[in-house]
Amino acid sequence: MRKFFTLLCAAICCASWMNAQEIANWSGWRTAAASFTFDDGAPSHITDVGPLFDEYGYKATFFLVTNWNPNWEGFQALVDNGHEVGSHSKSHGQNMQGEEKSSKDSINAHITGQDCNTVGYPNCNAPSDFTAVRANYIAARTCNGNEMIMDTNGPADWYKVGAIITGSNDVTYQTTTAEAFVAVLQQAVQKAGWVVFMTHGIVGKNNGMASYSPTPIDALRGALQWAQNNDNDIWVTTFRNVVMYCKERQATSFTQVSGDNSRKTYSLTHNIADNLCQYDYPLSLRVPLPNGWNSAYVSQAGHEINLQMRDDYVYFDAIPNGGDIVLSETAEAIDNITTAITATKCIENGILLIKRNGKTYNAQGAEIK
Ligand SMILES: [Zn+2]
Repeated sequence: MRKFFTLLCAAICCASWMNAQEIANWSGWRTAAASFTFDDGAPSHITDVGPLFDEYGYKATFFLVTNWNPNWEGFQALVDNGHEVGSHSKSHGQNMQGEEKSSKDSINAHITGQDCNTVGYPNCNAPSDFTAVRANYIAARTCNGNEMIMDTNGPADWYKVGAIITGSNDVTYQTTTAEAFVAVLQQAVQKAGWVVFMTHGIVGKNNGMASYSPTPIDALRGALQWAQNNDNDIWVTTFRNVVMYCKERQATSFTQVSGDNSRKTYSLTHNIADNLCQYDYPLSLRVPLPNGWNSAYVSQAGHEINLQMRDDYVYFDAIPNGGDIVLSETAEAIDNITTAITATKCIENGILLIKRNGKTYNAQGAEIK
């Protein structure tokens, strides 16, 4: 019996050592991801869709046809709020018509504060030769197919990412109501995967060239409201952000490189080519809280980063290829590599609190009264 327990312990210890540090499937350790994409540069995207997403604090992706004279100022304002603008070709012809680079260049000439590095194929028709798409974009959206709701691994082909066409023409999921959107989001959560919605016009609004398959704004609102109410389950963000996170997560090695009883150093690195994108989206990570520690501090490249402690783990976000990560028990270890850290920290009810100048803050820096 004693031998059995020894073996059992060895197995458990071994297993926990193997999983000593982990990268979350999706940002914030949420179960699944969802991206809302909008095609054809409709006026309603600026007047109605952008404000709706801003109201919930979520970011969307807008694929523009550059020859259709989109309201560049209006879409620039959306980008300034953190939304993404991608390419939907220059002329909306079949199979991109060789407009991969010219449409990207046009967007980059009109829109600042981001780089155009994703594309939605017009009419979902991918080109027969992917060379130019691969040379200009980190991923491309198509539609329908077998991968409408992806699993944790993301798409089989980054240049054929599936999407659900929402609105009146959606016979499969009938996304004209909040309930239908929520049912899709719940399926994504069940698969711990990623779903991409592809929307054109908004019912009853000025949709310009985007008259196809209009979607009621209240259906979109219901989807965002459900997402907000289920924040642990679903990560709503741009197409680009999910592409970056998923590729980084799959390519990044997160390893402990040194450590003793009071301080541990980890590396977080990948070697994805960075000619199109830096691939520096922060990854959500966790490491076990070492036995006996009742405080923890994390820094990357000498800069202290926020953390949360729960379930005997330390949770934080860090940038791949952004420098070594140091986990330490005492503030001194952090003070040695940063400067002017005057705060003290403590853990109350499993939550890290930061006390500075007589005030108390949570790990996100919000003051607690
Ligand atoms: Zn289109």
